[in-house]
Amino acid sequence: MAGINRTFRWLQAQRAKDEPELYDYDATYSDPPAGTRFVTLAEAQSLECNMCGQCCGSHDADTADIRDYTFGGIRKNQWANLNGGEPLIIPLTATGKPRAWREKDEDVDTAPPFICAALGHVEDGTTRCAIWQTKRPPPCDTFPVKEQRYPRDLAKGAYILLNTKYQRLCTWVDMLLCPEDSVFLQWRKSDGTLPNRLTSKQRAYVREVFAEAYRDAYPADDQMMSLSDWRKVRRTEAQWREPANA
Ligand code: SF4
Ligand code: SF4
Repeated sequence: MAGINRTFRWLQAQRAKDEPELYDYDATYSDPPAGTRFVTLAEAQSLECNMCGQCCGSHDADTADIRDYTFGGIRKNQWANLNGGEPLIIPLTATGKPRAWREKDEDVDTAPPFICAALGHVEDGTTRCAIWQTKRPPPCDTFPVKEQRYPRDLAKGAYILLNTKYQRLCTWVDMLLCPEDSVFLQWRKSDGTLPNRLTSKQRAYVREVFAEAYRDAYPADDQMMSLSDWRKVRRTEAQWREPANA
């Protein structure tokens, strides 16, 4: 799977050419974005962060727009204990101006856009975290491939779309984690994407799985699929699975 990696420069070039497809994705009507990579957790975890910094703030560095992306709930002390007593994770107004912490910032459902005081920018367009070598808030350690539930859920048959929709320059953008026995791992090309030559039935199944994984990653009403629901969806796969000794 040497081709699975996408470099920072490659992603920047793509971004200049294309609309970010997952922004436009609709789980009822859309096909999965063409560049989606289908990978195992081990493959995803073997890739390296390219230091684009897009998970470390809500500003879009190119357009200065505020992306629809938050840190999650910001606790009252704003992790000042990790930043010499000064607030580390700072809420922003809707127009991108730093503001004081409010109680509803702590709630993940009403969390505001943010900047992080530890994020430094480098001339080549990448970023550096000033406190990475010491201690970071917990979300910094788990995004995007180290959520504790991932190994457990994959082992039970779930597919997992990584939560990188708002990080178009992220190493892990548009990446679907597959259980080890997934037929997608048989069908995929060396860069992790799926070939065009799939049958219409196979394509319909890819579409169904991707839509369910998208709904899990971006639940409209907090309703994620249960693991038993995933088992039902995956019954279809048996017809394509190669015997273990094939
Ligand atoms: S603490 Fe470091 S890794 Fe976490 S958001 Fe800030 S800059 Fe990013
Ligand atoms: S968005 Fe992805 S590649 Fe960019 S800094 Fe965060 S983890 Fe690394």
